[in-house]
Formats: sequence, structure tokens, C-alpha cells
Amino acid sequence: MCKKCKESKHLLDFGKDKSQKDGLNKFCKTCKRQIDKKSCTKNKIDRSLYLKKYYKENKDRYNNKYKEEYRKDYKNKQKEKKLQKRILPK
Ligand SMILES: [Zn+2]
Repeated sequence: MCKKCKESKHLLDFGKDKSQKDGLNKFCKTCKRQIDKKSCTKNKIDRSLYLKKYYKENKDRYNNKYKEEYRKDYKNKQKEKKLQKRILPK
């Protein structure tokens, strides 16, 4: 009997599961497919959420790093300008 739809089905309607005592899956193939589908979708959602979070964190980090670099670069350029002014005789 399938644990999900509670229908008695033919043994052939159950997939094999070695972890079960009778060697058969607790769920019939139809239900198993639905369960797999659901868990698959859930995993997909989890994964996309994870990726979004990961991407956001990295983006922030990247932006900060970029800003810092830019600031440094800007300061250096300002210094260079000053130096050039000093060095170049007029
Ligand atoms: Zn079933």
C-alpha cells in the first residue's frame, strides 16, 4: 500500500528501495514522481535564493572594493598633478 495516496497497488507500481525492509519504496511510482518533482522545485528555489544572496554579497563587496580602488586612484592622480605642477617649470 502506498503511504501517500493510501492505494493498494501492484508491486510493480512501486519503485525499489533497498533501505526499506521489503525492498520496495513506501510510495507508489506516481507519488514518488510527484515527491521528487516537489523536492526538485524546492531545491531549485533554495538554490536561486542562495545564488541571489551570494551574488548580492559579492556585488556589494565588489562595489566597495571598486570604490576604494577608485578613491585611491583619484588620490594618486591628484598627487601626481600636484607633483607635476611642482616639477614642471613655468
Ligand atoms: Zn501513491
